[in-house]
Amino acid sequence: MTARRDKPEKIRCDACPVMCYIAEGRIGACDRYANAAGELVRLDPLTIIDHSADKLVPFLGDNDPAEWDGDILATERPFVTAVGAGTTYPDYKPAPFIVSQEVDGVDMVTVVTEGIFSYCGVKIKIDTDRHIGEERDVVRAGDEPVGHVMTSEYGSKMLSLGGVEHLTGGSKAEGRITCDTLLKLCNREAVELTIGDTAHATSVIVQAGQPPVIDGETERLMRVGCGSAAIGMFAKQWAGHVDDVVVVDDHITGVLSEHQAGKLLDIPPTGIGIRGRRSTPGRYFQVANSGTGWGGTDIVDPLTILKPFNPKIAQAGQSLMMVSTTGEQYAYFVLDDALVPRPADIPADLRKSAELIAENCEPSVCSVLFMGGAGGSLRAGVTENPVRLTRSVKEALTRVSCGGAEAYVWPGGGITVMADILDMPLGSFGYVPTPALVAPIEFTLRASDYADLGGHVQEVRNIRDILKPTTRRLRPPSAQNAPIDTARFGWSGGGSEA
Ligand code: SF4
Repeated sequence: MTARRDKPEKIRCDACPVMCYIAEGRIGACDRYANAAGELVRLDPLTIIDHSADKLVPFLGDNDPAEWDGDILATERPFVTAVGAGTTYPDYKPAPFIVSQEVDGVDMVTVVTEGIFSYCGVKIKIDTDRHIGEERDVVRAGDEPVGHVMTSEYGSKMLSLGGVEHLTGGSKAEGRITCDTLLKLCNREAVELTIGDTAHATSVIVQAGQPPVIDGETERLMRVGCGSAAIGMFAKQWAGHVDDVVVVDDHITGVLSEHQAGKLLDIPPTGIGIRGRRSTPGRYFQVANSGTGWGGTDIVDPLTILKPFNPKIAQAGQSLMMVSTTGEQYAYFVLDDALVPRPADIPADLRKSAELIAENCEPSVCSVLFMGGAGGSLRAGVTENPVRLTRSVKEALTRVSCGGAEAYVWPGGGITVMADILDMPLGSFGYVPTPALVAPIEFTLRASDYADLGGHVQEVRNIRDILKPTTRRLRPPSAQNAPIDTARFGWSGGGSEA
């Protein structure tokens, strides 16, 4: 007779549209939920940001739970984030945690959920002058397009990655790779991206809070300003020490003797000629192509941007300093009898001025901002009348945060938020294979306002009832106000600015 082993029953996870069947001891497709002895459990602990703790307590679960007296409320101001909170699906169900607590004598409610975002992406700011690609160039991870180059900002290149077009509008591989790229970036991992087509492809390794690595070279400094701004800032250091200075920049190259700063310091004309398009006195556009050379141009030899000196003005022996906008490259020349600039040893004062430019440059870093839309469905987990939540956010009655990080809410319709992932606890993001990113989102408001907007008031639990020894307690990852700080709400005279 053969013994029959009963197969343990699988349970169904209903936290997202994938609806996994999970066998006992196994985890679901997103690694977030598991079947533990027949019970569906969220694997990561609920995370509390403790805004007044004086030391970091990474995982209380790592310590002896018996040591925890459970009285976090007595002396501290905890904020319940959505990290580890779980998701409800479909969203007409109340959010996983709707938590009440008294703050400064006001009854407050925080509604937390790990939102499943199909409409989401990241905006990346890369502090560098180096050319990483043309505006609108496609950005790839592996072979798949995951975003594009946006308009450059002052001293920084900008990328927009993700979005519903890449997550759902392309091939299955494009959606999967896009989701994976967003997940890694949002969880502070390094990702190698390729920008542009094969003919002019640039490799950029991006990691939040770290310098970019461009074509294998780690960027060090963000430029002090454009070439014209650098002339304005440092003109006084140069006056009397050199006849002319050119600050080489991909966007606006500055020339001391022609610039307004030079005029005010009585620096006489030097007969210098600069290639490119003259914008206003001492400011030139397009002196060279973009690249990874001096000041984000493709030049290695700065003299290539000079035209012959005007013999009616220039004089033999005249000196010229050329410097990049980060001060990392500089050179000194003296005109010979034929008015040709010849390299010479740079005087100590001028070398110091180049070092001063470098000193005034900030370290180059990559910033990753999560951006997503809390659509109609996510809002239903907060209230049966979702548009009232949108109005409440616009009226600054409800504050939105992501993993406890203050979120900027875009003007106009909907609740489109943006938050710096470095302000959020490490590992705040997950994914589901639909594909979509899972991101924490919290709505905080007065209990009375929550009732007014038709919130799920019957689901409200006091914070004391949800805190457990396994709860993960963190200090704020960055200096920021607690989202529950009552001074920040419309009714207290605060605004909705991030
Ligand atoms: S992917 Fe994750 S959240 Fe979705 S059903 Fe499976 S286990 Fe649940």
